[in-house]
Amino acid sequence: MLSGHASGRTGFMLVRRKLVERLRAQGIRDARVLAAFEAVPRHDLVPEVLWGQAYKDTALPIGEGQTISAPGVVATMSAALGLTGPECVLEIGTGSGYQAAILSRLATRVISIERIPELARSARAALAALEVRNVEFHLGDGTCGRPEDAPYEGIVVTAGGPEVPRPLLEQLSLGGRLVGPFGPRDAQQLLRIRRTGASSYTQEVLGRCDFVDLVGRNGWLP
Ligand code: SAH
Repeated sequence: MLSGHASGRTGFMLVRRKLVERLRAQGIRDARVLAAFEAVPRHDLVPEVLWGQAYKDTALPIGEGQTISAPGVVATMSAALGLTGPECVLEIGTGSGYQAAILSRLATRVISIERIPELARSARAALAALEVRNVEFHLGDGTCGRPEDAPYEGIVVTAGGPEVPRPLLEQLSLGGRLVGPFGPRDAQQLLRIRRTGASSYTQEVLGRCDFVDLVGRNGWLP
């Protein structure tokens, strides 16, 4: 039965619904986030040999020593941004393009930065094939953010750095949220930071996590 395993939005629809039920059971309540997970075909963003594992709640290799984050982690981070639709969101670490594709359904404009050219290229092609039109891709060091398009109502950092890059804090809008993993490699914490004033921020710890390195000028050294 080809229909159950085809590329695109209709492939793997039933397993995707089961994934959404698991995310709901894990406490993800935001209906727009759950709808995004039902709509985005994660299997199209991983190598075909891994299609059988595409809807398990695990990280998977995507080449270049990098991984696509587990759906539960992507859901937690997406929900933590508290998006309602009109926002402009900056993502650091395009990787497979999965988090960007989810964000494309939660915000009006998504800007995603990746430092590895091969990943940036394949994510761009994969999202074009899925007819995602509101994600802009850039190659470079995301720890410097992208001042040209700032401020951002949401910033999501999908690789783990020693500390929150200062330029990203400065590029948040007033009331904007930054979500990402920071701290020593063996004790990363998923943080949510909210800008409350010109130079004031609040910080919450959402939990422990284990991401690949954020490599750059305001991250780990290459
Ligand atoms: N959001 C991705 C997760 C990929 S893993 C997804 O949904 O698949 C994290 C990614 O961050 C890797 O592709 C890595 O190359 C990238 N990365 C690490 N440091 C970076 C930096 N300073 N700027 C941009 N991308 C970076």
